[in-house]
Amino acid sequence: MNIEEFRKRGYEAIDRICRYYGELDSVKVLPEVKPGYLKKLLPKHAPEEAEPWEDIQADFESTILPGVTHWQSPNFFAFYPANSSFPAIIADMFSDMINCVGFNWICSPACTELETIVLDWVSRLIGLDDGYLSDGEGGGVIQGTASEAVLVVMLAARQRVIDEYKKRGYTEEDIVTKLIAYGSDQAHSAVEKASMIVNCKFKALPSDDEFCLRGSSVRSMMEKDIEEGLIPFFITATIGTTSSAATDYIDEIACTLEGTSVWLHIDAAYAGAALICPEYQYLLKGVDRSQSFNINMHKWLLTNFDCSCLWVRKRSHLLNALSLTPAFLRNTASDSGLVIDYRDWQIPLGRRFRSLKIWFVLRAFGANGLREHIRKSVKLARRFEEELSKYPNYFAVTTKPAFSLVCFHLKPQKKTNMTSNELTAALYNGINNSRELYVTQTKLGSQTVIRFVVGSPWTAERHVVDAVKKIVDFTEAIIKDVEL
Ligand code: PLP
Repeated sequence: MNIEEFRKRGYEAIDRICRYYGELDSVKVLPEVKPGYLKKLLPKHAPEEAEPWEDIQADFESTILPGVTHWQSPNFFAFYPANSSFPAIIADMFSDMINCVGFNWICSPACTELETIVLDWVSRLIGLDDGYLSDGEGGGVIQGTASEAVLVVMLAARQRVIDEYKKRGYTEEDIVTKLIAYGSDQAHSAVEKASMIVNCKFKALPSDDEFCLRGSSVRSMMEKDIEEGLIPFFITATIGTTSSAATDYIDEIACTLEGTSVWLHIDAAYAGAALICPEYQYLLKGVDRSQSFNINMHKWLLTNFDCSCLWVRKRSHLLNALSLTPAFLRNTASDSGLVIDYRDWQIPLGRRFRSLKIWFVLRAFGANGLREHIRKSVKLARRFEEELSKYPNYFAVTTKPAFSLVCFHLKPQKKTNMTSNELTAALYNGINNSRELYVTQTKLGSQTVIRFVVGSPWTAERHVVDAVKKIVDFTEAIIKDVEL
């Protein structure tokens, strides 16, 4: 494809993208395909010769699009959202145009320097304290996902505690076999997974009745573990847990950790976006005593996947754990000590120019535009709940609604002998089998619940009102089916 062909096909592609977004409302959110569908449609071998563009485009339409789950659909209410936006798409096109691999500053100075600047912008926007800014000892870096973010900081925390205990006369072997990390029983599985990779022990601490982690729970477990000779070194507290969007008592946890060498990481992957609104700033109480903080801009801030922002209070801790400079990576700029080489802040070497999309999004929407998006999602979630509450015989809202998530379940029904959990699971299957709405289920304690999250910028009031109507219809169909 030469430049002129690219111009033609590129314009056609933009037209196709516009048509996709224009038609999203009328497309079912879930695809109809069965596992393995694609293998049956595509050849066994890659082509030896170049193929006509028309064929590639046609196959994209006939084989790929039918197997797509439409995350941008106004009827996508599952997981947490992964918003896209046109400014972010265009920024990603420019990133692809440049296609640099910015691991060292010299590999593309703008790539590194823009990242430092926009992460300071976002840090100020969400109200983090100045200790997380790059002009002090801290700074931000873009990771692919929150899972990578927690792994990276767990590695930094591990190195920090090893260095500290070695100074006290322990051997490295003594230390590493005793290290223990914590999260609440509601923390994302990414935390436990990170401890599997780091090869340390992990304990899920019990949360309270509202699924929040309290300082007392941390204190009692840590005291017990220390008595047994373990070395607590890392804990994740969450703003907006995955199951119910609960927020841990960060201030209490920070107080409990005072005087210890435990690294406090804050996982605000989804709900951190809401911090750009002053009404959510109270959630930051205690964060000034954390060592690292993470939000996924790709969840709820209109920035295409992947874009997970991680801040550390002391960047030297990341460098101590992750910096290695073989001869082939040395260069004058790095040796000068005047530049950031982001390869030392992450696991891979290579990295894309992701700060471009943050910059475009922040400028194209402005902080107020983003606040409007967050508030609209929250308002629509409340509207969903209001509609649901018109059917008190069917539905119960399981937890205090938080951010743009509503967790609900079906109440036991007189004319059936199915339990609430069985009815809720049947409703969940009914909703998703229709492919018209997409929701996820989870367990809160022993209760099976359906999570309904609003996040797509394309979702309007009529979508959530219509969703409740459909949910009521599915419910009535289930009850009718199983009536005694
Ligand atoms: N933390 C929380 C609170 C989440 O809700 C999620 C995913 O939804 C994650 C971490 C993991 O996110 P990622 O896919 O970016 O690793």
